[in-house]
Amino acid sequence: MKVAIITGASRGIGKACALRLAKDGYTVVINYASSDAAAQKVLDEVKALGADGMIYKADVSNLDEVKNMVREVFNTYKQIDLLVNNAGIAKDEYLLMLNKDNLDRSIDINVKGYFYMAQQVGLKMFRKKSGTIINISSVSGSYSIPGQTTYSATKAAVNMFTKTLSKELSPNGIRVVGVAPGFINTEMTEVLPEEKKEEYFKAIPLHRFAETSEVASLVSFLASDEASYITGVTITIDGGLSA
Ligand code: NAD
Repeated sequence: MKVAIITGASRGIGKACALRLAKDGYTVVINYASSDAAAQKVLDEVKALGADGMIYKADVSNLDEVKNMVREVFNTYKQIDLLVNNAGIAKDEYLLMLNKDNLDRSIDINVKGYFYMAQQVGLKMFRKKSGTIINISSVSGSYSIPGQTTYSATKAAVNMFTKTLSKELSPNGIRVVGVAPGFINTEMTEVLPEEKKEEYFKAIPLHRFAETSEVASLVSFLASDEASYITGVTITIDGGLSA
């Protein structure tokens, strides 16, 4: 049995990862911030696939809540093999109109949340000298889009976090990998105006946004033994947008 924690797994990319990893045979911990019903529905789907798991409500930007969650998961399953750091927010706005609360919340969740989770889970993996940490970044971490100064700065931070943490943990049997999606059909991109979407479709060589399952396939591969020599890199999945 292998155990995976996926943050922000009640919907979107996190949900797709939870379902894919359940299919791969993982016991999945579905972390979420607000909707008990949505998280429970994901767990029901996980169980329908024949896998085990639990839901756990915790704000990843709150270190005490992260500590409690990781402790309880470890006490329940006695191991954590995979962390998918996925919970994130995008508060797009031009810098000249920047709202300080959006900036603070973005850094708290997209950056500090990844640190807190990786540290607490990393301590458990370190004991076993094995594990994989996958940080969901964004193409915006290396490809600039106006209106995303906050978001892209947080994702660029995640990219360097992945590289540096890999050098700290890989010698101890823990791989650290990043995934940088382009535009994916989720609630995060649903809010884009139609004309903006059309503009992006033109800029993307594959002329479409991706489905969450396509990102989950990459996560599944990177988590597997097939990817045993991959660490310290962030792999882009963006339909060619940033090529
Ligand atoms: P989403 O908004 O659909 O889902 C985000 C999930 O994170 C939700 O379940 C939400 O409840 C949870 N969450 C938010 N704050 C949290 C917190 N403090 N603690 C715990 N959970 C919290 O987003 P998504 O599109 O599925 O994005 C998931 C990840 O993928 C994010 O890191 C995002 O930056 C990244 N990403 C998304 C896209 C895209 O086009 N959708 C593109 C590139 C990268």
